[in-house]
Amino acid sequence: MTIWNLGSINADMVYALPHLPTAGETLAASNLERFLGGKGANMSVAAARAGSRVAHIGGIGPDGRWALDRMTEYGVDTRFIAEVDMPTGHAIIAVDKQGENQIILYPGANHAIEQDQLGQALSQAVPGDLLVMQNETNAQVEAARMGCDLGLTVCYAAAPFQADAVQAVLPYLDFLILNEVEAEQLRESTGQSVAELPVKHVLVTLGSKGARYLPKDGEALEISAHKVKAVDTTGAGDTFTGYVLAGMDRGLPMPQAIAQANRAAALMVTRHGTADVIPDLKEVLEARF
Ligand code: ATP
Repeated sequence: MTIWNLGSINADMVYALPHLPTAGETLAASNLERFLGGKGANMSVAAARAGSRVAHIGGIGPDGRWALDRMTEYGVDTRFIAEVDMPTGHAIIAVDKQGENQIILYPGANHAIEQDQLGQALSQAVPGDLLVMQNETNAQVEAARMGCDLGLTVCYAAAPFQADAVQAVLPYLDFLILNEVEAEQLRESTGQSVAELPVKHVLVTLGSKGARYLPKDGEALEISAHKVKAVDTTGAGDTFTGYVLAGMDRGLPMPQAIAQANRAAALMVTRHGTADVIPDLKEVLEARF
C-alpha cells in the first residue's frame, strides 16, 4: 500500500536572539539554522522512517529544492511535489535565551497545489491506500472527495485547527486525529463530542498522557505515553500521526499502531528539531523507556 500525503513543506528558519523583538526594534541574530518542517513533511518523513511507502503531494518554490532532496533522502517519494513560481512555505522562528519563541508562518507554495497535480497523483492510488491531509495546504476538500471516490482510507489531522476546514472535510473522513484542545474546539463548533461524529476512527492525542482511541464500532481505549524528559515537543504530534498511519499501512491492529506511535513520539520529545530527527522503526522498537 501507499500513503498519499497532501501536505505542507516548510523551511523552518530559527534565529537565535538576545530577546524577542518589540515593535519597531531591529535586532541582530547570533545564529541561524534551517530545518525541514511543515506538518505535512514531518508526517511524510515519519511514515517513511517507519518503513511505509509514502508519496507526498505538495508544492515548493525554486528556493525549496533542498527540502525536496532531504525528503527524498529520508525515503519519501517526491515525484508529485510541484515546483511553482513563488517562495517555498517557511516559518521565521525567533528564539530568545530562555527558549521563548515568536513565529511568523508564510504558506507560500503550500497554497498553490493544482487540481491537475492532485488528480495525476491520485490516479496512481489504488483502493485501500491511505490518504492523509492536514490544514496547511489548499485543496483539502477536493482531495478528500477524490480519495473517497477512489476507495482510499481518508485521514485528516485537524491542525492547525480551523473549525470550518474540519467541517468541510468531515463527510469524507474515515479517520480523524486531533489533540485535546482541538477536540474541545471542534466540540464547541459542532455541538457534538468527537465520539459522536460520523467518522469511523477518531484518535485524540493527550500529550504526556498518551492517546485516546474512539472507534465508531467498538470500545474507547486509552494508551499511556512513555515517561521521558521532554526537551522539545515540536513535531511530536506529526511523528505520532506518521507512525499511526504507517502501523495501519502495515496492518497492525490499532492499539499496536498507537503503542508504536507513542514510542516514536516519546523519543521525539527528548530531541530538539523536527523532520531531521524523527527516529526510524528500528530505533523506536529498540528504545528503552
Ligand atoms: P505538537 O506539540 O507536535 O503540536 P500535538 O499537540 O499535536 O503535538 P500532543 O498530544 O501534545 O500532540 O502529543 C502527541 C503525542 O506525543 C502524544 O500522544 C504522546 O504520544 C507524545 N507526547 C507528547 N508529549 C509527551 C511527553 N511529555 N512525554 C511523552 N510523550 C509525549
